[in-house]
Amino acid sequence: MGACRVQLQQQALSSPDLLSATRKLVHTSRGVEVELLLHLGEIDARKLYLDQPFSSMFAFCVGEYGFSEDAAYARITLTRAARRVPAILEAIRSGRVHMTGLRLLAPHLTLENQAEVFAEAAGKTTRQIEELVARLAPQPAGPTVIRKVPSHANATVDATPALPLGDAIATASPDSSASLAIAPPAPTLARHEERAVIDPLTEDTFKFQFTASRACRDMLRQAQDLLRHRVPRGDVGAIVERALAVLVEKVKKDRFAEGRTPRKKAPQESSTSCSRHIPDAIKRAVFQRDGGRCTFTDEHGRRCAETGGLEFDHRDGFARTRRHEADRIRLLCRAHNQHAADQMYGRTFMQRARTRGVPQPSLPGVSSD
Ligand SMILES: [Zn+2]
Repeated sequence: MGACRVQLQQQALSSPDLLSATRKLVHTSRGVEVELLLHLGEIDARKLYLDQPFSSMFAFCVGEYGFSEDAAYARITLTRAARRVPAILEAIRSGRVHMTGLRLLAPHLTLENQAEVFAEAAGKTTRQIEELVARLAPQPAGPTVIRKVPSHANATVDATPALPLGDAIATASPDSSASLAIAPPAPTLARHEERAVIDPLTEDTFKFQFTASRACRDMLRQAQDLLRHRVPRGDVGAIVERALAVLVEKVKKDRFAEGRTPRKKAPQESSTSCSRHIPDAIKRAVFQRDGGRCTFTDEHGRRCAETGGLEFDHRDGFARTRRHEADRIRLLCRAHNQHAADQMYGRTFMQRARTRGVPQPSLPGVSSD
């Protein structure tokens, strides 16, 4: 009942009041977080968890307060780092750097570099901060290894030991299957089976780890053979980079008509059409003009940074105008395209249309060519 009443209160707020109240709450919660870290730090220093059924501060946080393992680890890391570099707490309080970023930076922060590091990390995403960490503490390049992981369909495991790929190729005959080292699964790999890992090692190098199909492995081997004249050691990173360059170019061409040979017509033309298909010249012009990025901009002029899953949006609604005009078409990410349609046709109408399973491209104003 209490929760219900609270929800009603929020519903009664005007949108500007809702936003400003939320801003205040975010500010308050940061202050509370700092207080919490200070308290945890003192418990840690007094080792009070040992008076309780916990062997470590970590177990105490998880067992006593119900923190997730991630949250416990992050808070303990930060509270200990803050004893060396107290400015960490100020960074949390001000919201200058988010907690996840600070947790990543904590081991590398010193009294000497703190000002510089905070200035650089301010407002950055976790991924950008990972890159900053890689610059602060570069790691050596990992060896290239292709392993077989167990699957339900095929539980037998090749017992060939793991070999760095470069070495395997250097010692193997060109047609030998040893050009790809196949090894029993490593426990760390099995854990990441579902999720690809891209970890920055230095400013310009990244370690990739992912699980792929046998077909992918076979194609990689084929590409190594075909490219032996250009990539003599069959370097997987170099081959994947080439493959991705071809893929990106092709998809850009298919989806945004980028790089497609223009026909005689000028790109600024408009055409009345019964087809939702936007002519290539217009797609190309819009994609180039908008820089391959969502064009949604808020009232403060801050533009959406999304470059993935972009859609062409007819500003005036294609169903209304039946016209394709470069000036009246823009790139929007999926979320902002739906937001625009909600605003043009009303959220209730659009929600009903979406739940009815009406294919999105047939809806007015929502184009995903
Ligand atoms: Zn967007």
